[in-house]
Amino acid sequence: MASSCSCNTASAPAPAPVPATITTNNNNDSNNDHLVQSDDPNHPANLIPSLCAKFWTLGWVTGTGGGASIRDNDLVYIAPSGVQKELMRPSDMYVLSLEAQRGLADRRQRVYLRSPPGGRPSQCTPLFLAAFTRRGAGCCIHTHSQWAVLVTLLLEAEGPGRDREFRINNIEQIKGFGRGPGKAGNLGYHDTLVIPVIENTAHEEDLTEYLEEAMEKYPDTYAVLVRRHGVYVWGENVHKAKTQCESLDYLFQLAVEMKRLNLPWVTEIEEVKPRGP
Ligand SMILES: [Zn+2]
Repeated sequence: MASSCSCNTASAPAPAPVPATITTNNNNDSNNDHLVQSDDPNHPANLIPSLCAKFWTLGWVTGTGGGASIRDNDLVYIAPSGVQKELMRPSDMYVLSLEAQRGLADRRQRVYLRSPPGGRPSQCTPLFLAAFTRRGAGCCIHTHSQWAVLVTLLLEAEGPGRDREFRINNIEQIKGFGRGPGKAGNLGYHDTLVIPVIENTAHEEDLTEYLEEAMEKYPDTYAVLVRRHGVYVWGENVHKAKTQCESLDYLFQLAVEMKRLNLPWVTEIEEVKPRGP
């Protein structure tokens, strides 16, 4: 798999495939702790805690909810369940081999290359993995942003049949989104951004099939809203995932305020032609 993580070792040679078991290496590192030890601030094990600390200040990962995961070639870095996102450390990270997960008969049984002592794997793990395997993403962010939750509630109030998609157009920030995987360029000002909405489940892990279904139905989307819960946003690399997540949160907040002012999210606006010389 090609490297798509701009945050870390994109220019470094691809690491050799690693077995799907915890191994002992020459340094007697029985838990592969070397995978989360680096002086590089852009190493995924360092970047996830620093990103989550920023997201915590935005209200995206309050009360241990939400999180972020980064893929570096075959290695996936994920924070454990239940940690306070603003206090997370590199040593808290789980690391797994993406390729090794493909061969498992039961995908709920995951094999970790590195586990934090006393940690519990995150329920978001299979959802992050869906973004990596189905979309080739390099980073996936999950927020419990109140603006995302409010948008799903406003759609719910529209009634069945009108509550499954968030649509907005003619707003400058829409340009922050790519047109879709494999498509060149970003959406334009007049394009309509469409984000599918799936229903929430009692356990986060059970959302996986519904998220994958939405990815298939909306092949160009980089995000899926979860009703009364939050949003999953991914990108080809950390920069793109973060940019799209920020743009989306901006648009969700704007949409809530527009609804409060009785302004429509989708409008017909005539294109202004550029003035000639
Ligand atoms: Zn969640």
